Amino acid sequence: MINPQGYKWFFETTTPAEGHMHAIKRTVVEARTKFQHVEIMETTSYGKVLVLDGRIQSSQADEFIYHEALVHPGMLAVDGPPRSGLVIGGGEGATLREMLKYPSVTRAVMVDIDGEVVELCKRHLPEMHRGAFEDPRAEVRAEDARAYLERTSDRFDFITIDLVEPLEEGPACMLFTREFYTLVRERLTPGGAMTMQAGMTKLGELAFFTSLHRTLREVFPVVAGYQTFVSCFGTPWGFIAATKRVDTTRQDVAAVDTLVAERVRGPLDYWDGQTHAHAFSLPRFIRKAIAQQTRVVTDAQPLIMA
Ligand code: SAM
Repeated sequence: MINPQGYKWFFETTTPAEGHMHAIKRTVVEARTKFQHVEIMETTSYGKVLVLDGRIQSSQADEFIYHEALVHPGMLAVDGPPRSGLVIGGGEGATLREMLKYPSVTRAVMVDIDGEVVELCKRHLPEMHRGAFEDPRAEVRAEDARAYLERTSDRFDFITIDLVEPLEEGPACMLFTREFYTLVRERLTPGGAMTMQAGMTKLGELAFFTSLHRTLREVFPVVAGYQTFVSCFGTPWGFIAATKRVDTTRQDVAAVDTLVAERVRGPLDYWDGQTHAHAFSLPRFIRKAIAQQTRVVTDAQPLIMA
């Protein structure tokens, strides 16, 4: 029996009326940057976790599920071997790490607004980035990703949006809008693909996921939602793939396995054909919520989470 008295606890609210508790062994580092409150803690069940503004971003034990689900469906949906990729956000460096598993990639850019978070992750979370920042193909920039995309004329085969939630006063609010996704589309090559983390897909909390799905359908010809259970979040998590050409929902088990074998160096621990088929098969209540959602998120009316 676990004795709750014997631990310090970190409590994260998932909704105003629910939460998830983690027993904490120690706080590795705590800081307030110009943009957010940062904690790296060691938990009893999941090893080290990164927490920004009170919200768990990833854990050492199950980050491979989140980061493989975020990156590979998009990299495998690029029409032809991906040569370049862009991570928007991505603090820990694990998203960059997954992108660098493709030997065809010659340039992998990561733009995170908070250089201090990236430095803390470099120093205290080597288990997550596993040297990705030192890869000669990696280029890490500390700036607002929207400003970067507005300025650059570079094109990428793959763009992934790995941002914190759009909290009021937080740095990410204007990166969840139709205008921002239009900019992303313009910076993709003609056979390009994007993916994003799109919040919870738990019952009663689908508005965020479905309105982003609705918004992306205004911008991209092919949009598909998928989900996976992220244990340290204590809830199923939604992602969206939006592509210019390849339809991820038409890639069957064998096709995905072949693409993984052809494109990825080294084994993956989570993503393969079966995982793809399962993740993209959304249950009926989620499909219904997607179909019923009418909200398009715009710069004039951004999505702001409580
Ligand atoms: N795995 C995460 C989750 O569960 O939501 C997200 C990972 S990552 C740590 C999120 C990163 O987005 C943070 O490091 C934060 O600094 C960055 N970020 C927030 N706003 C940004 C912006 N406007 N431009 C670029 N990066 C931004």
